[in-house]
Parts: sequence; structure tokens; C-alpha cells
Amino acid sequence: MQIELLPLDDLEADDRLYIKGLKLSKTVKIDYETSKHVSFIIEGDESQHSVMYFAEKSGSKRWQCDCKWYTLQNKTCSHIIAANIAIKNSLVLV
Ligand SMILES: [Zn+2]
Repeated sequence: MQIELLPLDDLEADDRLYIKGLKLSKTVKIDYETSKHVSFIIEGDESQHSVMYFAEKSGSKRWQCDCKWYTLQNKTCSHIIAANIAIKNSLVLV
């Protein structure tokens, strides 16, 4: 699938989050993939999270995560950053 990554400015907006995402990017795995949807598993130190990519949505709504940070703040979290870095660096193939 053609995945539209978030702009680099978004990924690097918060240094602390970006560094966390960079570390987590090494743990990113693809859970499943359909024609409109990719589900990623990101393994953190204490918890595992699911990041979803929705091809049919637009802008930042394409990327969603099940973590508390994303749910409460509705902002790009370290897991979404990790998935974007993993794709960019070809750590996972979609
Ligand atoms: Zn998250």
C-alpha cells in the first residue's frame, strides 16, 4: 500500500517524543494489512500499543493510536512517530 507519512516537521516537533519514537521504531511490526488499513504493533518498555493507518481518512486523522496520550490529547504520540520512522527507514515493508 502507498502510505502517506506525516511531515517531518510534525514528527520532529517535540524532541523528547521524537527520541522516544526513534527508540521504539526498532520494535515496530505489522499486525495486519488490508487494502485500506494497516495495523502496527509497537512494543514499549511496559506496554504494547496498536497504531492504525487509515488510507481513506485525510491528514493527521490517517494515523491513530490506542494509547492514553493519543486518546486524551489527540496529538501525534511516540508510537505513531515510531511507525512513521520504521517505514521511512525500511524497518518494516508495507
Ligand atoms: Zn500512542
